[in-house]
Amino acid sequence: MNGRFWARHAWTGALEHDVLIEVAGGRITALRPSAAPGDAVVLDGLVLPGLANGHSHAFHRALRGATQAGSGTFWTWRETMYRVAAALTPDRYLRLARSVYAEMALAGITCVGEFHYLHHAPGGVAYGDPNAMGEALIEAAEQAGIRITLLDACYLSSGFGLPPDETQLRFSDGSADAWAERVSALKDRDHARVGAAVHSVRAVPAAGLGVVARWAEERRAPIHAHVSEQPAENEACLEAYGVTPTRLLADHGVLGPRATAVHATHLTPEDIALLGGSATTVCMCPTTERDLADGIGPARDVQEAGSPLSLGSDSQAVIDLFEEARAMELNERLRTRRRGHWTAAALLRAATADGHASLGWPDAGRIEVGAFADLVTVSLDSVRTAGPSHGPETAIFAATSADVTDVVAGGRVIVRHGVHRLVPDVPGALREAVAGAVA
Ligand SMILES: [Zn+2]
Repeated sequence: MNGRFWARHAWTGALEHDVLIEVAGGRITALRPSAAPGDAVVLDGLVLPGLANGHSHAFHRALRGATQAGSGTFWTWRETMYRVAAALTPDRYLRLARSVYAEMALAGITCVGEFHYLHHAPGGVAYGDPNAMGEALIEAAEQAGIRITLLDACYLSSGFGLPPDETQLRFSDGSADAWAERVSALKDRDHARVGAAVHSVRAVPAAGLGVVARWAEERRAPIHAHVSEQPAENEACLEAYGVTPTRLLADHGVLGPRATAVHATHLTPEDIALLGGSATTVCMCPTTERDLADGIGPARDVQEAGSPLSLGSDSQAVIDLFEEARAMELNERLRTRRRGHWTAAALLRAATADGHASLGWPDAGRIEVGAFADLVTVSLDSVRTAGPSHGPETAIFAATSADVTDVVAGGRVIVRHGVHRLVPDVPGALREAVAGAVA
């Protein structure tokens, strides 16, 4: 995609004004501050790099509003989530994910990390194409105009030494080798990368961890894992193996610069040193972690130990990366009773460059020559953002996803003046797809 864009204000690592952005082949080829717009597409607000949603389960969107009633824990929420999982087919999944990814595009997300474990038909029977569900997700991202990293998750057991239950049969390939064989048939394309995931140490026996790690290593692909979201997982792992989940993953080669630990809420000092020392990214999902009453993870400590940070909408309780970013800072303030653990620029980096890198797109998430032309315009004259500031503080601490007006992904305009160009009625598409998913 070729074109010229003109940003009234742009965040290039510094705040610049009247920036002409030239694009060829979907990449930025020139940046000219203090330029006239000429015939360029005018982006009237604060232009940020494309946002990366580091951790998503598309189908959880069907639970929004339904699981916020009543009380319970992570584990009671999971029962409701399993009922939705039981009803999905590849066609329904395509419609649901397309509408969810369109919602993400409207929120300024240009790449999603889809942590995918709903692989098979009910009872665990393979579809004609054993990757039909994963292909539906890749197709959904294309139809919504965003990039995707399909993090195909190995999921073999219901708990330490326990077989999958009835719903979980849909998640299981039976063995780590069978998982690797199925996933090897998925191919990267221009808008899609295939990565690996260990659902959790609950779901993959220790003997399978190395198989998943080797698969990712051979392809230099990203590898993600849910880690220590719940104290119960830590206790059961200690009982089964005598070590923490982080230590177990480290011992089987899962951690490293291409790895991401999702949540990492309940860690020991040794876990923090292992994650940081291996440069494993930690993906925080604060809106989900607070919705599910998980706790507050040690984001500041893991970053100081050496881990980059990314952010994810996870359960889709909301889809708003600005809210995820400020929640990480505000959680830390509540815990420490001190302000200012991250600057707005540092929080934005987690939502952009470091998030894209954790999904295997290191040349995205920054407005610079050579990077993907992913440009997100945040209005500076809404009721939330009007005022004298034009900088990232306004976006991170005051804006919501509703303030995103225009989105360019790989040089292509996918959202213009708040309207998705490929999915014109996103609320209608969501309503229909969610009704179809829970029917
Ligand atoms: Zn998750």
